[in-house]
Parts: sequence; structure tokens; C-alpha cells
Amino acid sequence: MKRHAIITGAVAAVTAIATAAALPTLALAQDGKSAEQLAQHGAAQRIATVGAANAKNVILFIGDGMGDSEITVARDYLKGANGSFDGLDKIGQPNLSGAKENGTGQYTTFSLGGSSKDAGKPVVTPVTDSAASGSGWATGTKTYNNAVSVDSSQNPQLNLIELAKAKGLATGNVTTAEIQDATPAVLESHSTQRSCYGPQGKTDGSSDDSAKRCDVAQLKQNGGIGSISEQLLDTRADVTIGGGSKYFNQTAQAGEYAGKTLWEQAKERGYQTVENDVNAFSALSYKENQPVLALLGDGNLPTQFNDTPALTQKLTEQRGAIQCSTNPSWLGNKNAAGNSASLADMTDKAIDLLQANPKSSSNGFFLQVEGASIDKQDHAANACGQIGETDDLDKAISAALKKVDLSNTLIIVTADHAHTSQIVGEPPAYALSTILKSPVDGAQIVVSYGTATVTDPDAEDASRGYNDGGMEHTGTQLRIAASGPGAFRVDGLTDQTDNFYTIAKSLGLAADTDAQNALSSNAKVSVKDGVAKVAGFNGDAVLGYQLQDTETGAVLASSNDDTPVSGVRVATGETTTIDFNGVKGFDPSASTYTLTVTGKQSGTKIATEFGLTGNGASNVVIAPKTGDKAGNKAQQAGLGGALVGALGQTGTRILGTVMMVLALAVAGGLLAAWRRGIFARK
Ligand SMILES: [Zn+2]
Repeated sequence: MKRHAIITGAVAAVTAIATAAALPTLALAQDGKSAEQLAQHGAAQRIATVGAANAKNVILFIGDGMGDSEITVARDYLKGANGSFDGLDKIGQPNLSGAKENGTGQYTTFSLGGSSKDAGKPVVTPVTDSAASGSGWATGTKTYNNAVSVDSSQNPQLNLIELAKAKGLATGNVTTAEIQDATPAVLESHSTQRSCYGPQGKTDGSSDDSAKRCDVAQLKQNGGIGSISEQLLDTRADVTIGGGSKYFNQTAQAGEYAGKTLWEQAKERGYQTVENDVNAFSALSYKENQPVLALLGDGNLPTQFNDTPALTQKLTEQRGAIQCSTNPSWLGNKNAAGNSASLADMTDKAIDLLQANPKSSSNGFFLQVEGASIDKQDHAANACGQIGETDDLDKAISAALKKVDLSNTLIIVTADHAHTSQIVGEPPAYALSTILKSPVDGAQIVVSYGTATVTDPDAEDASRGYNDGGMEHTGTQLRIAASGPGAFRVDGLTDQTDNFYTIAKSLGLAADTDAQNALSSNAKVSVKDGVAKVAGFNGDAVLGYQLQDTETGAVLASSNDDTPVSGVRVATGETTTIDFNGVKGFDPSASTYTLTVTGKQSGTKIATEFGLTGNGASNVVIAPKTGDKAGNKAQQAGLGGALVGALGQTGTRILGTVMMVLALAVAGGLLAAWRRGIFARK
């Protein structure tokens, strides 16, 4: 009752502040929204009202760094200037795709900050990285470069795999990059920094640089939700295929699997694992409740073609026109057993595994496939490297077209950001370049690279060539093409965040904040033998909790609530366990306890009583399930935080905060009533 009185007092105080303070007007940019407005979920959409649920499956193909010039370079070389790709150029093409609906358009890709330094103070940034851009289509929220499915204030935003799982779809994530790299990571984790690969940072497990690679508050030993690889295991997509196997040799530093490697953890959690083994990959088949985690190389997977490093004007002219040669270490080469693992093979396998999954036949599937090294070889000014990877992506699309029915499957092909390569007439004086001769039409294609901010003296050595890896992304809009139900949604000019809504709307997923919050309305908490089982928080990525002795009111254990990535990571669509055994003073045979679990995104709060007089079977909802993120944020910050925060907020936010506090007061009353036995206990 004491707590109730305090909250009521606080409500009065906040109400007084809200009415007395002059409400600041919103700072509207004359020609559009301010960065602060654009940082809200969905705020950058250009076609918000268009589209409806009409696809059973969606496959999203991402050519990382695949701007228009990258597509054209590869087409000119591999198919001839008047040729076309069998897969890449078919999607969106009305006379070729075979789909009733087709669409082609352009989308904008800007981000809201150049690095983590801009977190919390969004600034319109014309050139995105893969993390901010991936977060855009994965969550519908614009954010800063380096952010992995967290918003500008570092609050986790639900991604397409989480939302697809909430609706019972099968899910997959395929890449030629390290699986922890930004593009796949946006669908498997929420990380304030893209380099937070594992509990030991970005190492093979023989050392630990996590303090440098991660926001330390995110690490499990500090009460955080864990690294990208650990969260990948929590997300539990049905199919995960890529590179980056060495990072799974890292050891968990805290939590249920402390002291075990991530590979050991994956096996204990029922994954079918494949480590750098193409034959084992080829032999994979669907097994019930045994998701696939196949990582086929230590780092990024090798590209189809050998390197052709760019040179200065004089040296590239001396070298003359060259052609691409096959890289013997490319996984697309057949091995002694006749098996291979090109991106097309990986896509083919992923679709087989998803189609064999009963979730797919009843509810459909969502699959993302990334050709990563268009970007990586563009950074390296390596023309043949990027061309081979574009070819691999094209073949992966062809492989998908053979397996799916475009009357119920939407295929989208796009990129995450544009890149440096340009087709020019002559080797330029102020940029590096490579001259290629197309084996198809004999054309001489000069590809220039000129966006590095640091010079590499090796570019002036014909035997070495540019090898700095420092060519930068560019900021131009990108092509997006689609075939299948809902494809018209990519027509015209959209934004990258529209792609989230295109996919979510086509599949009928919870796209807006209220719909996402409502996904936690069936949340349940039970406690047995001192272990809490938490399920149904499908509108949340992070949980907070507090364990209280009901009789004395003493708090025995609580989650860390210091940052938005502090707390317990939700096991997506599954049961999250919190073990209280070993907590000092905790003895369910001697006293009665109240466990309160809060979904940090939805604000859903569930209290359950167990121990001497209860069995943890009854749940009382003590907080609203709707409300804006500002309210949730205030709630996370605690009541004091809400009061302080309200002073600097806009009118709607103050209203949201007041309503949240009021609801808490009502909830406090409900809890008190529940404790007095007004509601029947089971
Ligand atoms: Zn890049």
C-alpha cells in the first residue's frame, strides 16, 4: 500500500508539470521531417498507406553494396552490354518473371548518424553503412551507422525474423559473409555496435577484445542481453547458413552456458551444426525442432573470382585489359565428393529446409539471402571479386525461382547501399582503376575506384596493387525490384524502411508499434523449482525482472536496467528461462515470492506469486500493453527518470508519460487488490 501512495503522489506531480509547463512546438524542417522525427519507428516511410497481406512467403535478396554501377559492371562483363542476368534481371520484369505482379523502383538509404557517437542525437547522414541500412529494412526504423536493429536511442526494435516467428512462420538467414556481419546480424540480434560478434569480441576465442568491440553493458557478465552470436542462438531461426565459424569457438563468459564454447551451446540447444564442411552441409535435411546452423568458413566465404587489384592510371594502362579467373578456394567449385556450397547451393538448401518445415506449409516462410562480397570487394577495389559475387547472387535468385511459386511467394531483390565502382571511359588520373575485357562482347570496361580517404602506396606497385580495403560506400538511391504478390509496393520512389513494411504487410506481420506491443498480450510467467519460465513476450526483445519476498517486500534479485541492451534477451517465440536458484535469501519452501517480469519494448508487466502460498500458476497483468515507445523508455528509466524526462519532452510525450504513470498507479492498485485476495488465486 505504501508503494501505491507514492505512485499516486507522483501522478499528481507529473500532471502539475504537464499542465503548468509551456509545451515546446515541434521543430519541423521546412522541406521535411527533422532527424528526431525520422528516428521514430516508421517515420521515414514514403508509401505508408499502400499494400495488404497477400503473400505466403517472402524471399529478400540483398546484394551488399550492389548499386546500379555494380550491377552494370557485372552484366557488361559476364553477359555483354545488351545481355541480361537470368535471375537478377528477371525479378520485376513484367515479360520475364512469370509473376502476375511485378514492380521496380528506387529507394533512399540515408542513415541517422555516422557512428555510435551519434546515438541519442540523430543527424541526417547521406551515406549509410550496412548496419543502419539493414536495421532500416529489418525493423522499419532509421538509425545510426554501426547500430544493429536498435534505434537512435539504442532501444532494440523488433526485426522481421522475430515478427515472422511471432506469427508462426519458418525463418531463414543466408549470407556469404561472416554470419555476425551487419546484414545477417540485423535479423538475429540487437546490438549497439556491429563489431560485438561474440562474448570474447571479434576473436577466434583464443583472446578477448570484447571491451573494445562491444558496449560492455551489453555483455552478459554485466547483466546485458549478450553478443550478436549469443543472440543468434536465442533468435533460433530455422535455417542459418554463412561464414564466421571461428567466432563460435568463443566461450560464453556468463549465463546458463558460461564456460562452454558457442558451438557447444548450439549443440546443447538442439541445433544441427556444420562447421567448415561442405559435404556435411550438402547432407543436411529438415529435422523437427533442430534448426540448422551451418557456417562454412572461418571468416567471409571466398569469392568466385581471383583478385584483380586496381592500379594508378599509368600502371593500369601498362597492364592493359584483363579477364577474371576462377578462385580455386571458392566453395562453388565441386569438391572430390561432387558437393559445392556456392550462394546458389546455400539458397537451394535453405529453401529445401524451409519447405520441408511444417511451419512453412501452414504459415509460410521468410528468408533473407545476402551476397556480401560485392561490398567487400568494392572496398578492396577488386573488380573481378565484385563481379563474381554479383554472378553468385544472380544464380542464387535463379535457384529460388526454380523452387517457389510466384503466385504465393514475393521475391524482392535490392541492395543495402551504393558503392564506389564506376564505369568510366578512360583510366582516371585522380582515381585507381582496372580495365576489363568482356569475354562476351569484347568491350573494354574501365572500372574506377576513387572514394578512399587514405592513399595506399601499393597502388603504385604493379606487383601488389591497391590492397588497403578502404574504398568508401556512396550515397545514391538504389534499385529495388520485386515479383509476386505485393510487388507493386516497390514502384516509384520509396525509402529503405518502406521495405520493412512491404515485407511485413505482405506476410501480415505486426508492423506498427501498437500491433507489435499487442504481440505480448498473451505473455505468461510460471515458476517451478526456482526457475522462471517466461513465454509469450512476442512483442519484446528484452525482459526485465524483479524478485521480491512478498511478506517482507525485500527485493532479492532484479535485472540490470541501466541501458536499453541491459536485461534478459527474449528467446524469440520460445520459452525464456530465468534461474533464481542460488539467489541469497531465496527459499521457496520457506516464504512467498512475487516475480514481476517486464517486456521492455511493449511495457507489458506480469506479476506472479509463488512459494509457500502460491504456485506461480496465476499471472496478473499490471501494466498497459499499448502506448508509445517514449512511454516505455520512461518506464525503463524508472519513475524518477519519467519525471525528469517529462520536463524535456514534447506535448504528446508528456501525455504518454502521464498516461503511463496513471496506468502504473491503477496497476499498483490491482496488484494490491490481488494480494488481498480479491482475484481468485489458482
Ligand atoms: Zn561496406
